[in-house]
Amino acid sequence: MSRPKGAGFVWDPAIASHVYRDDHPLKPKRLIGVYDTLRQIGAFDGPGAKVLAPRAATIDEIERIHSPEYVEAVKRASASPSRNDYSQWGMDRYRDTPPFKGMHEVSLLTTGGSLVAMDESLAGDLRVAVNFSGGLHHAMRERASGFCIYNDPAIVCAMLADRGMKVAYVDIDAHHGDGVQHAFYDSDQVLTISLHETGAALFPGTGFADERGIGSGAGYSINVALPPYTDDAPYVRAFDAVVPHLVDRFRPDVLVTQQGIDPHFTDPLTHLQLSTHAREHVVRWFADSPYPWVAMGGGGYSLDAVRRTWAMEFLIMLGAEIPPELHDADPPAWSGEERRQIDQLTDEAIKGALEAAW
Ligand SMILES: [Zn+2]
Repeated sequence: MSRPKGAGFVWDPAIASHVYRDDHPLKPKRLIGVYDTLRQIGAFDGPGAKVLAPRAATIDEIERIHSPEYVEAVKRASASPSRNDYSQWGMDRYRDTPPFKGMHEVSLLTTGGSLVAMDESLAGDLRVAVNFSGGLHHAMRERASGFCIYNDPAIVCAMLADRGMKVAYVDIDAHHGDGVQHAFYDSDQVLTISLHETGAALFPGTGFADERGIGSGAGYSINVALPPYTDDAPYVRAFDAVVPHLVDRFRPDVLVTQQGIDPHFTDPLTHLQLSTHAREHVVRWFADSPYPWVAMGGGGYSLDAVRRTWAMEFLIMLGAEIPPELHDADPPAWSGEERRQIDQLTDEAIKGALEAAW
């Protein structure tokens, strides 16, 4: 069976205009650069590209993953961010996830964007649809965390699982996809694979190989905990050793990806050292796989790395050529003792991940 061609891009200026806090590293306006770059290239002009308007997720959809009490707290924080203390719900004005005016409404829209992407991908007219404003993988059932308010990737995976589908969720953000792992920790219907910088060095401090799921979910939570400063070559080796092998063995009905670009070597919040070249390799594997595919964004705090890499990734989804200026000209690569140490720690991460699998 041949796969459909074409790619959907969820876009509305409303998903790129909110401000968490003036000094906050997550700047939703970063998506304007991605959209403008693609528009200037002419990516939206061909027959394969479809710009998709997001919709607001319904409360029922949000409550598939989050508790009604938490949703009520987010609504109150959204209406009056400075009036009360919302820290018991993970929202604190001086910390990672501050309450801000309109946060509930814009989070419904970014979550609904992922649901639109899901519906478009499953409709069968497009190879993939991507919502770069989504991928907010740290949000927990009753707690905002790590810039994430509503966990759209978990909601998408849950909606797919509710339809009886087997879901492979692959998370390539620099941070462990803890909220999604947690939501499906006891399920063999959603395989979660997260490649990230080890929790020993980076938020949220989890994502070790021995977190492999419980009950019927044992072996269906896979973590590749990479050493700080991992560069392209060992990263690609780890991806190739773990992801194609396990996803193909699982034989999902649908592939869901979280494509945070904070592993980039210029990112100010993490220590991974990836370039656009490793990302091209990984996203081409997603694109060439036989599975229907729903894609989301995630972290990414170097605005230029976000702009170039996500524009490139959408071009890969489209099957279009990549202008050389989107690529990193001179990606970092270790040598000597650092090379040896990173390679050895990466080998251990690969081994641990494969041994954890069902
Ligand atoms: Zn991240």
